[in-house]
Amino acid sequence: MGMIGSDITEIIFDNVRLTKENLLGKEGEGWDIAMSTLNLSRPAVGAQAVGLAEGALNFSVEYAWKRVQFGQKLADFEGIQFMVADMATQIEAARALVYDAAQLLDMKVYERDKMSAIGVDKLSAMAKVFSADVAMKVTTDAVQILGGYGYTKEYPVERMMRDAKATQIYEGTNQIQRIVIARDIFRKFMP
Ligand SMILES: Cc1cc2nc3c(=O)[nH]c(=O)nc-3n(C[C@H](O)[C@H](O)[C@H](O)COP(=O)(O)OP(=O)(O)OC[C@H]3O[C@@H](n4cnc5c(N)ncnc54)[C@H](O)[C@@H]3O)c2cc1C
Repeated sequence: MGMIGSDITEIIFDNVRLTKENLLGKEGEGWDIAMSTLNLSRPAVGAQAVGLAEGALNFSVEYAWKRVQFGQKLADFEGIQFMVADMATQIEAARALVYDAAQLLDMKVYERDKMSAIGVDKLSAMAKVFSADVAMKVTTDAVQILGGYGYTKEYPVERMMRDAKATQIYEGTNQIQRIVIARDIFRKFMP
């Protein structure tokens, strides 16, 4: 459906034997190692989503400035202006969350504030889920701003909308991110 530049295929491991030297980490620690890599990759998906959304915003703003309908530019319609304002605001909020998570990871700070329990796993999940939802919303709005043209392959926003959908699915779906966040919030009450 989207992300056509990135090949997707199934890989099957059938009765594969590995030598001990090829074991990553220690036996029995695989799950924790795999999960900890997601803290790094989720903000990266967030960054991808922010870029997608920004591309869609830029394209639709330029289009709205040029396209004349009912004797005036689309950009002069308040309905379009409010849409663009919301798109830009959501993108900035998503970008701030991605930078925040990336900064914590860069500094190797895994628990910023024990009182509010902001852990990097939660912040990474927040950066991913929020940015992906913003990308989906903003790219859908960009298609709307272009009207019928937005729905055609002549313009890039339909591709951006298809690509944005993937960011809500991979690296853990957005439902899974919300589970991670909620689990972290309630962790302090657990015995
Ligand atoms: C473009 C693309 C690229 C990908 N690249 C890779 C890759 O490089 N490497 C890789 O390993 N995988 C990759 N994936 C796979 C991706 O990580 C999985 O599709 C994703 O994790 C969801 O798993 P699933 O498809 O089995 O869906 P399912 O787990 O069957 O989920 C189906 C639906 O149920 C929801 N759901 C599942 N469990 C719960 C729950 N406990 N509570 C609430 N809702 C739930 C999900 O959120 C989803 O909406 C890629 C997928 C896509 C689309």
